[in-house]
Amino acid sequence: MASRRKFLQSSAAGLAGLATAPLAAAALPPASPSVVKPIVISTWDAGVNANKGAWKVLGSGGYALDAVETGVMVTEAEQGCCVGLGGNPDRDGYVTLDACIMDEKFNCGGVAGLERIKHPISVARRVMERTPHVLIVGEGAQQFAVAQGFSLEPQHLSPDAKKAYEQWLKTSQYKPVVNIENSKSRSTGPVGGPQNHDTIAMLALDAQGRLSGSCTTSGMAFKMRGRVGDSPLIGSGLFVDPAVGAAAATGQGEDVVRIAGAHTVVELMRQGRTPQQACKEAIERIAAIKGAKAKDIQVAFIALDKNGRTGSYALQTGFNYAVSTTDTPRLLDSEFLLK
Ligand code: ASP
Repeated sequence: MASRRKFLQSSAAGLAGLATAPLAAAALPPASPSVVKPIVISTWDAGVNANKGAWKVLGSGGYALDAVETGVMVTEAEQGCCVGLGGNPDRDGYVTLDACIMDEKFNCGGVAGLERIKHPISVARRVMERTPHVLIVGEGAQQFAVAQGFSLEPQHLSPDAKKAYEQWLKTSQYKPVVNIENSKSRSTGPVGGPQNHDTIAMLALDAQGRLSGSCTTSGMAFKMRGRVGDSPLIGSGLFVDPAVGAAAATGQGEDVVRIAGAHTVVELMRQGRTPQQACKEAIERIAAIKGAKAKDIQVAFIALDKNGRTGSYALQTGFNYAVSTTDTPRLLDSEFLLK
């Protein structure tokens, strides 16, 4: 009892210290005189079209938050194979969507396990702007979306997802395929087969220096019903700190959550790492945790600091990302760890 009291006292003292201490200002990366802005970065080759969508906002002096919402809505609407209602279902045959969004003032919102709604990212933004909460899941998220005027789409799988699901049902084995978000890998191998996971994450710095991020996914294909990955979780799939920078993740969500991935990348930048170094160090941490099993998964991070410097790092080859500082995005191959 006595030691518990002591613990509580010392925690309270610690918290009081936290409340008054300035936020480690000395450790913040210095503001560069030549900040690159506006700029937007997003995951996978789907990021090319998404960045073009975001650029319509950023290129005309718009708000980073509007850019990251508009940008990933492009991918959600494409419904070809990846993000949104065209994605692969869970193992019971339902497409369940996860998304989150964060602005430059630590405002954030997310939805998880959302069904039959075309733009989960916009529902996440409504959670942020119109509720006292940061995450709403499942049926409650759908109820909220409908109450907010989003229409309920028909419950059916896209032709590709239906085919992949029927194929998967033959074995019902949960074996995520690495790099399935990369459309080149999808069509030509080495992975081939059913598409197991897909996410678009986007980070933007606008002309006024405001940072925002978004992340949206149908999650891991054939996941257990109710499974939630990293993508709707602030701190795992996405994190933004205006004094430092922003980061986002894609790949095996469970392993991103294990290290609070996006937050870790931002904290490493706070300690002075470049965005590239920070992404690399976070990936190295995951590799060390996974040991020999690291080769069976893919995880990748992208980062953007407050000076407009970008970085990315993946566990394995095959991850690419799109960067825009004009209306023409550049698609880049990421550096990776396991050679
Ligand atoms: N991170 C997503 C999840 O675990 C999937 C992905 O990015 O491929 O749900």
